[in-house]
Amino acid sequence: MTVLVDDRVSLACEGLAEGDLLAVDGLELRVRVSARRKRFALTVEPDAGLTVHVPEGRPAADAEDFVRAHRAWLVEKVGFSERIRPLNPPKRLVDGESFRYLGRTYRLAVSADAPADVRVRLVAGRLVVSQEQADDPDRGRGALINWYCRAGHAWTRGRLQPWAARMGVAEPEVEVRDLGRRWGTYRPEEGGHGPGRMSLGWPLFQLPMHLVDYVVAHELAHVRVPGHRADFWRLLSSALPEFEERRAELDELGRRMWMGEIG
Ligand SMILES: [Zn+2]
Repeated sequence: MTVLVDDRVSLACEGLAEGDLLAVDGLELRVRVSARRKRFALTVEPDAGLTVHVPEGRPAADAEDFVRAHRAWLVEKVGFSERIRPLNPPKRLVDGESFRYLGRTYRLAVSADAPADVRVRLVAGRLVVSQEQADDPDRGRGALINWYCRAGHAWTRGRLQPWAARMGVAEPEVEVRDLGRRWGTYRPEEGGHGPGRMSLGWPLFQLPMHLVDYVVAHELAHVRVPGHRADFWRLLSSALPEFEERRAELDELGRRMWMGEIG
């Protein structure tokens, strides 16, 4: 059994009950409550069962924050590598290959007539690339990623304002680019007076709109609150109460998205 203990100070509030099940971002933990216990702790059983040990009287939200803060540790200990392993399939640059955009599927059309370095566009429901782009993986990948960046950027600009208004934060600059395996990041402006810059990873735009919205809202909440402590999740939840479901769905669907590999 592996154990991890919290070192934070506790606040009394309505508590969790012994035997409750606590679901946090796709993990499910059994709750053990103890009057003698002063700190949260997590244990991972040999069969990969998870238990969160809770001091009596602590609210569920604190237990959730604790689990969330140690999610990486849990995932590692449980050997969740199997369950969260990326399954990102490579794509082939051939006529009819499918690409997703905002949750819908579009087919690739390789055009012999298109200029060699045509900007990829969605024409009559098909993504058109040139024969030269289809024949050269680097060129083809670059052209498609460039399309995701342009399309994603245009979509996000129209989407930002309602979320920013809901959270009462200023709209940051937005860019869409390659962020490796990250969906989004937020960087405050130098000096900290402006709304800063939100970066979104191009693969994000393969996902359905409600999951892109989750990432947009998440990064917008960072305009006001850096880091992922309780006040961050409170702000996000005020604008997007179902954020936990969306986050779990993003974890699950996200690992199946195309990350730019040509096979
Ligand atoms: Zn964040």
